[in-house]
Amino acid sequence: MDCIFCKIAAGQIPCQKLYEDEQILAFRDIQPQAPAHLLIIPKAHIEGAKDLTPEHAPLVGHIFAAIAQLARQEGLDAGFRVVINSGQEGGQTVGHLHFHLLGGRQLGWPPG
Ligand code: AMP
Repeated sequence: MDCIFCKIAAGQIPCQKLYEDEQILAFRDIQPQAPAHLLIIPKAHIEGAKDLTPEHAPLVGHIFAAIAQLARQEGLDAGFRVVINSGQEGGQTVGHLHFHLLGGRQLGWPPG
């Protein structure tokens, strides 16, 4: 499958890896939008948030537990944001589910 995040998960494309287990991978975004900008992905190919079902609840819970740990590791004690862009109008550019973890500066709201 021609999916860049599948290739990163398979070790075929390098990344700045921060955490990995059998289900998920966390790495630094190549175009950071904040001092800390991490991506957390399931290794299994799921196109996006629109494809999540109740069966994915353990996986999504696992991802959020990893996000909390990563936020602590990154020193984001003042706060952080978790974002899933979904579909064209949601701003999704990579068709493999990923959670952005952003922090290290004051983040604006609402998003543009
Ligand atoms: P989205 O626009 O929500 O689909 O987010 C995709 C993100 O993936 C963007 O923030 C990109 O900068 C990031 N990205 C794309 N290719 C790579 C890569 N090879 N390594 C790390 N991050 C990447």
